[in-house]
Amino acid sequence: PTRLRAMTLPTFVDLNLDPFWMPFTANRQFKQSPRLLVSAAGMYYRSIDGREILDGTAGLWCVNAGHCRPEIISAIAQQAATLDFAPTFQMGHPGPFQVADRLRRITPDPLNHVFFANSGSEAVDTALKIALAYHRLRGEGTRQRLIGRERGYHGVGFGGISVGGIAPNRKFFGSLLAGVDHLPHTHNLEHNAFSKGQPTWGAHLADELERLVALHDASTIAAVIVEPLAGSTGVLIPPQGYLERLRAICDRYGILLIFDEVITGFGRLGAPFASQYFGVTPDLITVAKGLTNAAVPMGAVIVRDEIYETFMQGPAGQIEFFHGYTYSGHPLACAAALATLEIYEKEALFERAASLAPYWQEAIHSLRGLPHVIDIRNLGLVAGIELAPREGQGGPRGYDALCRAFEAGLLIRVTGDIIALSPPLIVERSHIDQMVDILSRVLQELP
Ligand code: PLP
Repeated sequence: PTRLRAMTLPTFVDLNLDPFWMPFTANRQFKQSPRLLVSAAGMYYRSIDGREILDGTAGLWCVNAGHCRPEIISAIAQQAATLDFAPTFQMGHPGPFQVADRLRRITPDPLNHVFFANSGSEAVDTALKIALAYHRLRGEGTRQRLIGRERGYHGVGFGGISVGGIAPNRKFFGSLLAGVDHLPHTHNLEHNAFSKGQPTWGAHLADELERLVALHDASTIAAVIVEPLAGSTGVLIPPQGYLERLRAICDRYGILLIFDEVITGFGRLGAPFASQYFGVTPDLITVAKGLTNAAVPMGAVIVRDEIYETFMQGPAGQIEFFHGYTYSGHPLACAAALATLEIYEKEALFERAASLAPYWQEAIHSLRGLPHVIDIRNLGLVAGIELAPREGQGGPRGYDALCRAFEAGLLIRVTGDIIALSPPLIVERSHIDQMVDILSRVLQELP
């Protein structure tokens, strides 16, 4: 097995890299030349060889308030020492009630009820189950079909990969993925390359939902799930008017609309949720990541009052929704969430993201014209930089860019040959300049 002897503070560690089967990683390639992070503060990570790495991706789109915030650390520590765990099945503790009540204040009305999970994947599977059960409770049990979108990412549960639109996530698991269909994705370089903000072309692609309704009949369709802005598959920005059309078609046919805001939630676009940014209110919202600033895993589904009330109709002594996780509303996650939501509000980080967005846009688009760059797109504090594939093969050029950026002191994220950037919302203009400067050097030297 590969062993790595490296200096960390305060001691040397002897790492056996072999036993950890790494997620979404080319294990053998990584273990040949590992990139390890050992500490973080604010906008920076520190690598195991002692270098500062500017965090261009807020970890995995999740550390929205910056790293190692003292308020969050002490809230978690205090909670761990006071109440390490308490069940939330037929029992409770104040944490999840407080978080739900706090969340409700920043979600769009009338989404005021919160079901807790531990990740984005669990939040998505929970939302899909709520949608199916909701229709059944209303006497429309034939509504069982779920509609996702090509190039959608909704985590890795069986529900999430069913509605998701990424072939490698689906191809090994086919027999369980029945009962779904997919809208086309909206990405189109021919029409929309180098758009600043929302592209003007593509709203008509929402009308494909009409075609699916005609094919399957509305009485068989429970819900449509989309990321308002698709992050993981390469920053795909919704065309102007697209989400509004989806909403209108869902309303016409009694189909629930789910926004997966695992990435767009908590200020990424300069509003608490993408729903408010776009002015389109879904029926359910899934969140995770930024909910706790990623300090403790937590996910949640936030639903319209009417959905919650539909579940609350039967006998009062009966469990209304047979679903939950041992760690739904875990005390440490709740402590982290409360401290995080407090920071967002106190420091007005969502407004900060909105006010930085124009500077961000101009800075990122200044990379236009550099070698291999075939598109640059942005919204809020997100950007995608699409590179031409190397000799017709997707992936190696993007991976090379990731490695070179890391060497040069910048953490980026790549999907194939698309670079995604999503800095913590505490980012300063000087950090944005540093990011652009490093990227520009990397792109100029990239074969
Ligand atoms: N949904 C979206 C939109 C995501 O971007 C992600 C993760 O990136 C998930 C769901 C899955 O979240 P998790 O990895 O916490 O399960």
